[in-house]
Amino acid sequence: MRNLRYPFPVPSELSKLPSLDRYRRIVFFTGAGLSAESGIPTYRGAGGLWAQYRYEDYACQRAFDRDPRAVWDFHDKRRAAVAACSPNDGHRVIAEVQRRGPETVVITQNIDGLHQRAAVSGGGPIVELHGSLWRVRCDRCKTVRQDESVPMSPRTCACGAFLRPDIVWFEDPLDGRTIRRATDALEACDLLVSVGTSAVVYPAAELPRIAMSRGVPTVEVNLEDTPMTPLYAVTLRGKASEVLRTMAGATTPAP
Ligand code: NAD
Repeated sequence: MRNLRYPFPVPSELSKLPSLDRYRRIVFFTGAGLSAESGIPTYRGAGGLWAQYRYEDYACQRAFDRDPRAVWDFHDKRRAAVAACSPNDGHRVIAEVQRRGPETVVITQNIDGLHQRAAVSGGGPIVELHGSLWRVRCDRCKTVRQDESVPMSPRTCACGAFLRPDIVWFEDPLDGRTIRRATDALEACDLLVSVGTSAVVYPAAELPRIAMSRGVPTVEVNLEDTPMTPLYAVTLRGKASEVLRTMAGATTPAP
């Protein structure tokens, strides 16, 4: 595939977009930029979450061990904010592609659950690299369960220990089985579409390299360039929802 770079949308260039219909095993690799249009702030930059809060106080195991109530208060605010948001057209396009092509896999760094909420009748596989705001776990008795209460209650497990959000905090390792599922999908995909990720959070950021090393077509959708931009075959600049809508409607042959 040639390296195509163009700002978006440029009507004369739309014909060069890969049509999603031509691929059977698409991987959508998504980040906070996909949910930005739903009103959920991204992490980095002005207005980002970590410009307002110190992760050392609210988003690491050390903070939780020190003061689980303060960490839960912070996560309850995030739950309330995310619960008030809805999936946008970007999530919906991906869900529709997954409905039509059950081998489509979503690998997301997002913890907001918006892919699942956009999915119709169950949807296809969604690999949550960084866990979910809507799951809790007990590290003492190893209980893991869905929990959508806002505020989350009760905060303690039946065994008496504090439950914690089942998300990957700063300094936490990623779950090995989750990484395996993501790796398997990237080793099998015939198109990789990366959407709204700054590609600076490791190890997630290096996962797309698996598809790149296999020579499959790769597309990066973002408002701006990232450190990984030079490695993508096609880079599309614009809002995720608009670019994905256009890609879903594209009818050209595969490059
Ligand atoms: P990030 O904040 O580092 O980067 C967001 C990226 O999205 C940027 O490159 C930005 O240019 C792009 N972007 C912003 N708005 C966009 C739009 N409308 N259309 C297209 N692109 C847009 O986020 P990241 O790369 O996902 O960083 C990874 C970390 O962020 C993960 O740890 C993840 O858990 C976390 N995160 C998740 C959520 C969520 O669940 N919604 C929110 C914030 C952060």
